[in-house]
Amino acid sequence: DADLSTVDPEVAEAVAAELHRQQSTLEMIASENFAPVGVLEAQGSVLTNKYAEGYPGRRYYGGCEHVDVIETLAIERAKELFGAEHANVQPHSGAQANAAAMVALLEPGDTILGLDLAHGGHLTHGMRLNFSGKLYNVVAYHVDRETGRLDMAEVERLAAEHKPKLIIAGWSAYPRQLDFAEFRRIADSVGAKLMVDMAHFAGLVAAGLHPNPVPHADVVTTTTHKTLGGPRGGIVLSRQEYAKKINSAVFPGQQGGPLEHVIAGKAVALKIAATDEFRERQQRVLDGAKLLAERLSGEDCVAAGVRVLTGGTDVHLVLVDLVNSDLDGKQAEDRLHSIGITVNRNAVPFDPRPPMVTSGLRIGTPALATRGFGADDFAEVADIIAKALLPEFDDTTRDDLRSRVATLAGKHPLYAGRS
Ligand code: PLP
Repeated sequence: DADLSTVDPEVAEAVAAELHRQQSTLEMIASENFAPVGVLEAQGSVLTNKYAEGYPGRRYYGGCEHVDVIETLAIERAKELFGAEHANVQPHSGAQANAAAMVALLEPGDTILGLDLAHGGHLTHGMRLNFSGKLYNVVAYHVDRETGRLDMAEVERLAAEHKPKLIIAGWSAYPRQLDFAEFRRIADSVGAKLMVDMAHFAGLVAAGLHPNPVPHADVVTTTTHKTLGGPRGGIVLSRQEYAKKINSAVFPGQQGGPLEHVIAGKAVALKIAATDEFRERQQRVLDGAKLLAERLSGEDCVAAGVRVLTGGTDVHLVLVDLVNSDLDGKQAEDRLHSIGITVNRNAVPFDPRPPMVTSGLRIGTPALATRGFGADDFAEVADIIAKALLPEFDDTTRDDLRSRVATLAGKHPLYAGRS
């Protein structure tokens, strides 16, 4: 059987180039991570060949005895790790997990209350062009203009006014912890269900370094590839009372055959997430983000109009506000790219610049922590980023910063021995 480089040299070449990119640059996209080799192996295994519609023990296909073992491991590990009564590990992605959860809890036309996309929410929390915005009547809550923090008084007011069937707590770009108990109280006060989308911070929850939403929410959704560090995919956790509805919403509601090779990757990632080593890594994620927020709050940054939203972070990312900087989000992203640091530009709340440009950056530490970065390394990265955002940046600075990035990348090899 021909290997990839023989059967398709063009694809093989691009894969090799991508590996080199990941190895030689610093990945700071907050939603990304490096899956361990065990996860890559599971995903690249013969499990990709198997059809397994249904659930362990109740499949619509023969020959499922081994994938049943794997999916059951993933389910049990997810329940154990997050203290959930029920887990569905089949969603192909975070968006699919959210779609299934909403189909299980809602009827088309029902009202949902979620965080505005422009204030850090996700597309699936009610964006106009997303299924969530088309199927449901969407009401959005926001962050406070002054503090940048969620305006829980507004959540309560909107809930009382619009009586949503579902309140969604969770975010794609927000640097603080959520008050799940307060969300629960507000949901109960209007008879709404509460869904928490912990896609971004699930790894921190697994490590016990972030409050766990599971005891407060009716349903909790997550991705498995962000802080959790596993394969791309989704999981729905819920109370037992929703188990049947959730399962039926995933299959046959949203999906056909589950991706058992990805589910195997999820099982591996969930096993790793229960270890002390994983916990120690998540601590470095948090420490790194704090160091970054501190450095970007330095005098030189403040003078250049660079601001850290909410003044800091409790999680794995920092949101940089460039509203008062000459540099816009696109230029800042490009500048960091030119020195070998990958981030994404991100609209800040009340952003005056258009969405393709934006006035912000979202910078995350999970991938570098997975690479082994410790406090000294994060302090160095933070200084490199700060210098890149200053007005004095010129060709000499670029060369200097690029070489400092290369030194850090060399110090922490990634996927060593692969080519
Ligand atoms: N939920 C949140 C909060 C997210 O940030 C994301 C991804 O960015 C998703 C869901 C969707 O995940 P996926 O890209 O796997 O569909």
